[in-house]
Amino acid sequence: MWALVFARRFLSEPVAQSPHILQREPSAQSMSIKEKSSSFDFPKLARLVSEGSRNDASCKPSPGLYLVATPIGNLGDITLRGLAILTAADAVACEDTRVSGLLLKAYGIKKPMLSYHDHNADEKRPEILKRLREGQIVVLISDAGMPCIADPGFKLVRDCRKEGLNVTVVPGPNAALTALAASGLPTDRFTFVGFLPTKKTARENELEALKHLSGSLIFYESPQRLKETLDAMARTLGADRPAVVSRELTKLYEEIRPGSLGSLAESYASAQPKGEIVILVGKGADIEPAFDLDNLLSERLTALSVRDAVAEIAALTGIPKKDVYARALALHATRKT
Ligand code: SAM
Repeated sequence: MWALVFARRFLSEPVAQSPHILQREPSAQSMSIKEKSSSFDFPKLARLVSEGSRNDASCKPSPGLYLVATPIGNLGDITLRGLAILTAADAVACEDTRVSGLLLKAYGIKKPMLSYHDHNADEKRPEILKRLREGQIVVLISDAGMPCIADPGFKLVRDCRKEGLNVTVVPGPNAALTALAASGLPTDRFTFVGFLPTKKTARENELEALKHLSGSLIFYESPQRLKETLDAMARTLGADRPAVVSRELTKLYEEIRPGSLGSLAESYASAQPKGEIVILVGKGADIEPAFDLDNLLSERLTALSVRDAVAEIAALTGIPKKDVYARALALHATRKT
């Protein structure tokens, strides 16, 4: 009941700005969220939300690592369970303590914060593992969206699993899936690529390897590289291929721009856009829907050497050998990580 009241009050709020924007210009909207948040009883919410889950009699969540998804823009996009776990945490590990500090502050949550990002993760992981062994609740959040998805976390989860420490995911916002759902491109099969390499040759090689995949492709990109990447995609994947550029999802200036790769490259030629970007690419017209290069490769590589599997598949499908080989290498690399 209490949670419902919370949800009703919160969902009736206008669209909020991202934590970053909150920092730069505290608007009337953001202030009202902060004021209201102080009247929410989060410990009570924590007890209500955690009822029925794997908790002890005091309703304190079980010790362990919790991966909590956080908003990708709209401050309202955090789950009740996410807030409950943050409220119960002994420590919050995050990429940037300033960014996550704003999120916690907006919800009236005060916790010891540990910095955990790509550049200090190897050094900081032992400290987090030690806390977990001692029975603490440690929450991992990233600057935005799902931890571990183009963000730090996977090695920490891997090490927890090795030691048999509890890992619980509290799911929520993710830019890739939000963009895909909004795109109007087929959603039945898709490949999440994340960020392409920044070096030209490596980027074009990776695009070559993705060219024959059936299903939609999802990329993260920075505004500075958008035009260059769209040009490379048009050249490699085909200028006529349907695509969508999604910008500032869930934020005030959200923009979903569909077009062909060629036309999108042209439309972003004159002015560099601002904000955060997901590029989605639909199937090319010449791609047979029922055909999946990855499945074929996976299947044939169990019986044949890479060389023979590539030769057989190239002959069978008409895809150039170098493309099949590039995809086989990419598959191999994915399996190793
Ligand atoms: N872990 C995050 C997730 O679950 O989506 C992704 C983190 S990754 C470091 C950041 C990238 O995600 C941005 O550069 C952008 O490509 C994409 N992104 C994040 N928020 C976005 C938004 N509101 N609109 C569009 N793209 C976004």
